[in-house]
Amino acid sequence: MSFSHRHLLGIEALRPDEISTLLDLSDTYAERNRTRTSCTEVLAGMTQINMFFESSTRTLASFELAGKRLGAGVMNMAMQASSLKKGETLIDTALTLNAMRPDLLVVRHPHSGAVDLLSQKVDCAVLNAGDGRHEHPTQALLDALTIRRAKGRLHRLSIAICGDIAHSRVARSNIMLLGKMENRVRLVGPQTLMPSGIEDFGVEVFEDMREGLRDVDVVMMLRLQKERMDGGFIPSEREYYHRYGLDAEKLGYARDDAIVMHPGPMNRGVEIDGTLADDINRSVIQEQVEMGVAVRMAAMDLLAQSLRVRRAAQDVSVMA
Ligand code: ASP
Repeated sequence: MSFSHRHLLGIEALRPDEISTLLDLSDTYAERNRTRTSCTEVLAGMTQINMFFESSTRTLASFELAGKRLGAGVMNMAMQASSLKKGETLIDTALTLNAMRPDLLVVRHPHSGAVDLLSQKVDCAVLNAGDGRHEHPTQALLDALTIRRAKGRLHRLSIAICGDIAHSRVARSNIMLLGKMENRVRLVGPQTLMPSGIEDFGVEVFEDMREGLRDVDVVMMLRLQKERMDGGFIPSEREYYHRYGLDAEKLGYARDDAIVMHPGPMNRGVEIDGTLADDINRSVIQEQVEMGVAVRMAAMDLLAQSLRVRRAAQDVSVMA
């Protein structure tokens, strides 16, 4: 098995063969989840704690379901109501939780790098469920799985990621993953929503959406991250929709069989037309949600396997 990481903190640290290993196992779980016998005992006896310092609907539900389907004991910590409000630092919270001996810690945090820092203080496996604008590895993996299943491959595809690139951890993780798997990535959006120095990531940048979508295989739309904006990045939502909202007319520039993606939550009528988002002939948005559970099951399965190996090696060295 080519996966021996202690944590899943980002796509940056993964090799292409490790991404393939993760996706292959995810495919198995995706098929299994479609049968009535979707539960396994892979994480039996293990404890998974979900610590979300930022609100979430689908990612939290997805991790919770994934853990339960693998037989783990799953606990959700409502961090807004926790000691953080009383002034405890992130590290103190981590050390407190570590003392309770969890096996898997799933963390979402508004600050880039916070999950990495926390992972250095605990003994269990840590999964990054999104840290600030930095990374959202399971989102990129579920997007990759959805693309691979729809297109039959995950290489030499032309993929447009559109909208608020600057504030998006989904974009960052996807740019890295799709690049590592040898796809052509185009970024489409207004200059104000493009991070500086983005060309160094080996992508093509387009300000004109029709030009950016020309002949692409995949159109990935992003939400305007208003909670991460501290000023006027767009003239108005109406103007933004006019120039960058995906509708049937703009999609007409992509390939006829191009698929439409969105990580959710969606702002209908801002970055995407509602009817198009619901069109099952073009949109794979629901499939993305479904693949999210499978990918999280695979990631936790592989991390639990390396945790067991590490613990067994520690036991041997204690006995020696
Ligand atoms: N759900 C994704 C995230 O947590 C995308 C978004 O919020 O727009 O980054």
